[in-house]
Amino acid sequence: MSHFTTARPRPFLDPAYCKACLRCVEACAKHCITPGSTLNTITGVAPVELHLEHCTGCALCVQACPEPFGLRLDEGMSHLEGEFRLEDPTKLFGKKRVDVVDAPIEPDEQIPLPGCAPLVLKGAYASAIGAVLAGCRHVFGYPITPSTEGAELMAKLMPELGGTFVQAVSEVAAVNMMYGAGGAGVPAMTFTSSPGFSLMLEGISYMIGAEVPGVFVNFMRGGPGLGNIAPEQSDIKLACRGLGHGNTHALVLAPSTPQEMLDLTLAAFALSFRYRNPVIMLGDGFLGQMTGVVRLPPTLSRPGRPAWAVWGDRSHRHNLISSIHLAETDLEAHNEHLNRKYAAIAKRETRAELFRCDDAEVLVVACNTPARMAKGAVEVARARGLAAGLFRPITLWPFPIDALLPLLPRTRQIIVVEASPGQLEDELRLALSHADRVPPPITHVRRGGGVLPQQTEILAQIAATQEAFA
Ligand code: SF4
Ligand code: SF4
Repeated sequence: MSHFTTARPRPFLDPAYCKACLRCVEACAKHCITPGSTLNTITGVAPVELHLEHCTGCALCVQACPEPFGLRLDEGMSHLEGEFRLEDPTKLFGKKRVDVVDAPIEPDEQIPLPGCAPLVLKGAYASAIGAVLAGCRHVFGYPITPSTEGAELMAKLMPELGGTFVQAVSEVAAVNMMYGAGGAGVPAMTFTSSPGFSLMLEGISYMIGAEVPGVFVNFMRGGPGLGNIAPEQSDIKLACRGLGHGNTHALVLAPSTPQEMLDLTLAAFALSFRYRNPVIMLGDGFLGQMTGVVRLPPTLSRPGRPAWAVWGDRSHRHNLISSIHLAETDLEAHNEHLNRKYAAIAKRETRAELFRCDDAEVLVVACNTPARMAKGAVEVARARGLAAGLFRPITLWPFPIDALLPLLPRTRQIIVVEASPGQLEDELRLALSHADRVPPPITHVRRGGGVLPQQTEILAQIAATQEAFA
């Protein structure tokens, strides 16, 4: 490469900093840059070669180069080429720019959707469509019953929409693909079920540590171990308290209808990017298969590109996504930052449905499909003159304790209804204890192994409680 002295600046490259990505080759309309043929002994790749006879100095190649110390316009430095090499690039180029990476996200664009009649969809499909409308075009997963339908639909839709669906070799691979896509700032998701979710926990911990967004739709099934493929609320504890090692939390959303599978999946992507954190959708196996009427929203999203993303272009080149903080004080500060984020989520994002709670003396607490049976039991109880209500947490973490506390002075009994041996009740009791409240007596209706609590069982428990008051 020779040193030009023309008035127009020309591109200049120290070959030791070229990664041979060839973006500059594509960018140059004058064909001034060609792929290299000689390996650089320092880097082990063949840097591009510059032939600048027809160069106009347009700088398109410079803009295309993603390397921090790559192609740049000659500002009188090209005669230094080769003098400094990799050991000290700052002598040649000055200090590398380091910006604050916690930059705001460019707003998503909302595009109107043409009106359409309500659809009849099973929960897994509703969730997939919600993700598509949220702008998700990157789906990674490993098939596992009863979540496979969601992935199957995405495998068909993604290629049609210019997106990517990858059936990974395992859930461990899938979660790390989500880490990569989320780190690049694009909405990414997976469909899985309990044993697969267990395999993803290490990766989720990494994503939380590195503040990488991503949506995990988990249709819970019977456990432990392989268990069975019937519905169980087996991962409430895991999602709320056990997302891998360290100081890990994620918003946990618990839909109970196909409509909510769509609505909450849409919300999950927005929340995931708002807080740069994974979001967990906890459905149960029944909900994934259940069919219901689903109305589409009036708009769909075209996601912006976050300023923090590792995208590979010049404007994002200073970014770094990593969960490692080797200095103890750095890691402590990072965890304090995460704690502030968790506190902000708890303050702003908790959700609950209150059904006939205003004058309820018996409060049934339930989520997912068991909440549907509980609502039916409350309706029958009311028809019989029993003062029952349903409190349905929609966020399981953080538990919507602020919506529950005002109901407690009237509540004489809480009945927790769940398809697990007490995982929801544990969340409720923990939230009450953190709120420093002595709760009313708590009883429960629990089923497991794939058996869901029945309306008659819940109704019998409500009636027994009311008789005890009489
Ligand atoms: S400055 Fe423009 S014309 Fe010159 S090599 Fe780069 S892209 Fe080609
Ligand atoms: S864009 Fe930069 S790193 Fe890529 S081939 Fe060209 S000079 Fe090398």
